[in-house]
Amino acid sequence: MDVIQTITDIDPTELESLSKAFEQKTPQEVLQWGIGKFRGEITLACSFGAEDVALVDMIARIDSTVPVFYLDTDYLFPETAEVRDRIAARYGMQPVAVKPLVTLEEQSAEHGTDLFGRQPDLCCKIRKVEPLRRHLGGFDAWVTGIRRDQAPSRANAALVEFDKIFNLVKFNPLATWTSDDVWAYIRANDVPYNALHDRNYPSIGCAPCTRPVKPGEDPRAGRWANFAKKECGLHLETDKAGAR
Ligand code: SF4
Repeated sequence: MDVIQTITDIDPTELESLSKAFEQKTPQEVLQWGIGKFRGEITLACSFGAEDVALVDMIARIDSTVPVFYLDTDYLFPETAEVRDRIAARYGMQPVAVKPLVTLEEQSAEHGTDLFGRQPDLCCKIRKVEPLRRHLGGFDAWVTGIRRDQAPSRANAALVEFDKIFNLVKFNPLATWTSDDVWAYIRANDVPYNALHDRNYPSIGCAPCTRPVKPGEDPRAGRWANFAKKECGLHLETDKAGAR
């Protein structure tokens, strides 16, 4: 499966073949391959949700020097900061905070207060998409925690694919896993996780745009609950659709 030489050599057809071969592999095997191929040029995006902390644990066992970053939107829950610090202590690393170019005060001065309640697409574009694009510009590959059964928009996620939004290779090692698989891994390995998960928050984003879900609701129903929006634009072709 040794098909990629450099980022400029990437052939989408070869990536498709590789991803098909990965369907029979474990997430750890996918990570092992990706980290070996993109050593020094690969990073993990971590929002400190269940999938991401499982990936932190897996990666730490393969290569603890792989950098981990998170998008610090200035709207994170205190519980998210708390698990970030527990993860840092447990694995002896410091997740990199990637910040927007503008403070909340500057954003309010330009667009009015509480932009998230009126134009969440624009707020996500400023506080998530632009910072992510800027940060990923320094890498050839990134790892995400997306799973196919999280949302219809993620149903076709490949194990590895070329990310046309951010122009680098994207690994989704947990694409084939279920939520139960993730939680079995967390419990088996005693991985620190966000306390909000025990309070009916299966999916955790910014505090103003995340509420707990009710019994029977979709796991992502608590995200932007007052809007049709269900993605922040990190895993969609935002260049076509605007930040979502
Ligand atoms: S999730 Fe909400 S608060 Fe966070 S960047 Fe998007 S709109 Fe803004």
